[in-house]
Amino acid sequence: MQKTAVLMDGKALAAEVRQALEPRIARVRAALGRPPGLAVVLIGDDPASAVYVRNKERSAQKLGMASQVARLPASASREEALRAIQSLNEDPAIDGIIVQWPFPPQLDELEIFGAVAPEKDVDGFNPATMGRLLAGRPRYVPCTPLGIMTLLRRFEVPLQGAEATVIGRSNIVGKPMALELLRAHATVTWCHSRTRDLAVHARRADVLVVAAGKAGLVTGGMVKPGACVIDVGINQTDQGLVGDVEFESASRVAGWITPVPGGVGPMTVAMLMQNTVLAAERRAGLEPPEAR
Ligand code: NAD
Repeated sequence: MQKTAVLMDGKALAAEVRQALEPRIARVRAALGRPPGLAVVLIGDDPASAVYVRNKERSAQKLGMASQVARLPASASREEALRAIQSLNEDPAIDGIIVQWPFPPQLDELEIFGAVAPEKDVDGFNPATMGRLLAGRPRYVPCTPLGIMTLLRRFEVPLQGAEATVIGRSNIVGKPMALELLRAHATVTWCHSRTRDLAVHARRADVLVVAAGKAGLVTGGMVKPGACVIDVGINQTDQGLVGDVEFESASRVAGWITPVPGGVGPMTVAMLMQNTVLAAERRAGLEPPEAR
């Protein structure tokens, strides 16, 4: 009989994460006289961004958190964008601020992310926050890597001394992911679009994280038997929404695998809620249940 991988159900784990946040939100409410507050800055009219922002807003509202979206046109100037962020930095009802990526080309990524107050930087994209992660003492871990680490821990995937390969080196996913795996004592290999022989690096991995945005990039033949395969990719195809991993073939070889949809995606949103609650707890001087 063919063995199939354990399915790492991110949707179910995200529901557990949200449930665990409920008493923490109540505690913040009691301490501050208001719920934790999340603000999203949405610049331009990218349709995928609009969907992501709606999901984040809905998730915050379901938890009884306050959420607001500051919408700016695609033509927004640097000054307009910085002003919008600054006013949220100063807003006492807002604990967490994210600027939805991608934004229009006239805006400098580092300047915009860098304008978010570090104590409200729940996406972790301010270069100062990224520097803390690099130094091994993160203030906020970016939501997608944090969601993946939460999945890995929940499914008790061995990380210490394990070979971990990360495909992708974006600031948002690939780089912080590799740093988190390193912090968990894995031996990390970083692959990207110019890596010479991707299959060799993939096949060596006990933990393979794929975040390239290329449907079908990783096939079963590139997976080490028994490995844990985390598929971060989100690709719209004629067959619907698919990841970067060919699920059919990979799930017959892997020990664990995340589905798309229903794997990393829901965890990312849940971690944004968790980071926002953490920001509110810090503001209120409350001790979070587990120190990260
Ligand atoms: P990106 O385009 O910024 O980066 C992609 C990375 O993949 C680059 O570093 C590039 O070098 C590498 N790459 C591209 N083609 C490759 C190839 N053929 N071989 C090896 N490496 C290759 O994208 P991103 O923002 O990091 O996102 C990656 C994917 O993850 C996208 O599909 C995105 O939609 C998805 N994503 C999902 C979530 C989630 O919550 N599930 C969150 C963020 C991003």
